[in-house]
Amino acid sequence: MKIFLISIFVTLLLATCHGNILFNEHGSTNQIFPLRVKIGSGGHYIQEVSCSSWRLGVEAHNVINWKTIPIECEKYVGNYLLGDQYRADSKVVNREAYFYVKSLNLSGDGKDIWVFDIDETTLSNLPYYAKHGFGVNPFDETLFNEWVDLGAAPALPESQKLYNKLLNLGIKIAFLTGRPLKQRDITAKNLKKAGYHTWEKLILKDTTIYHGKTAVTYKSTERKKLEEEGYKIIGNIGDQWSDILGTNIGNRTFKLPDPIYYIA
Ligand SMILES: [Mg+2]
Repeated sequence: MKIFLISIFVTLLLATCHGNILFNEHGSTNQIFPLRVKIGSGGHYIQEVSCSSWRLGVEAHNVINWKTIPIECEKYVGNYLLGDQYRADSKVVNREAYFYVKSLNLSGDGKDIWVFDIDETTLSNLPYYAKHGFGVNPFDETLFNEWVDLGAAPALPESQKLYNKLLNLGIKIAFLTGRPLKQRDITAKNLKKAGYHTWEKLILKDTTIYHGKTAVTYKSTERKKLEEEGYKIIGNIGDQWSDILGTNIGNRTFKLPDPIYYIA
């Protein structure tokens, strides 16, 4: 009997030490502290831990100039984007933007303007990226342009709510996108189809002027032009750091999540 009790104790101790497993009252097991280390109860590597760290590094702009996401993170990024977390993260950003705007004493002179990026900010290309590895594959301009030309990108709902609230407050809207000028008509059509029915400015990239220039240079220059026209950029939102770095960035900037691609 004594040996039997000791063997049960040792078995339980081993299970607890190696896998943090506890038995519940029904005799099945519960795993505790699942993010404790990178090794799961079976001794296997828990990939999600390093992929979530990688994503945090990307969003905090510590991981920069990357061309593709780590191949082992495809599933993680896909689950993130198609699950609740991406939407919840987008909601926090847009809500904060709205709370900020509500705190302002707006001039009401018709010159207050908000700068929205387009891709992964107002419009979502998730239907495209879901078919192309969620950023695992190198960017394919031809394939992506075929998708853009469909004009079928849905709105990112959280940004659309902000857009509607800003309009209700009398704030003008400027869309500033890295899409080339030749995509102007389809982009306007797509925006309207997705529910963005009006704007003050729709600025696309003139690739003859900005050929070889970074997105930071392009967007800074175009925002400067807005200010020279008398607009006050009260806010600026995008999914890339290059949307919100540089000059003439506006009174406050907001960074939406984007673990799929990086634009300098
Ligand atoms: Mg974007």
